[in-house]
Amino acid sequence: MKQLWAPWRLEYIKSADEDTGCVFCAADESLLVTRGKHALVLLNKFPYASGHFMVAPIRHVGEFAELEADEVLELHRLASAGMGALAQLYSPQGYNVGWNLGRIAGAGVVDHVHLHVVPRWAGDTNFMPVLADTKVLPEHLEETTRRLAEAWPHV
Ligand SMILES: [Zn+2]
Repeated sequence: MKQLWAPWRLEYIKSADEDTGCVFCAADESLLVTRGKHALVLLNKFPYASGHFMVAPIRHVGEFAELEADEVLELHRLASAGMGALAQLYSPQGYNVGWNLGRIAGAGVVDHVHLHVVPRWAGDTNFMPVLADTKVLPEHLEETTRRLAEAWPHV
């Protein structure tokens, strides 16, 4: 999917060749919202909506069944806290929260499990993605990272 307004894209194209490691283990600091003891929150480089974030265990683990209890708990607590921050910043009307496990299920990164949280608004699936395979993002990703980190609830 192409993005109509994406001033950051050139940076990604430039760094793509050097990008050999796991996106969660070698998390891009400019997209890292917060890091817990067992899990971290990272913005998606190619978001479906502004504020689309991912929660992943800090440990490099590709099998959902191998997650430890501490990891499962913190993954969901961070997802919940992130929804609190999104609610404060962008007032979404709903969310899609889910795991894409395995390439066939749509996972882009298959060897490090991660939970997607995508905020939704009425009318957000507008004509642009349907007709032009193009999405308009109203905010720069680094700005979203900064705002989410600031709005993150202190629990
Ligand atoms: Zn990893």
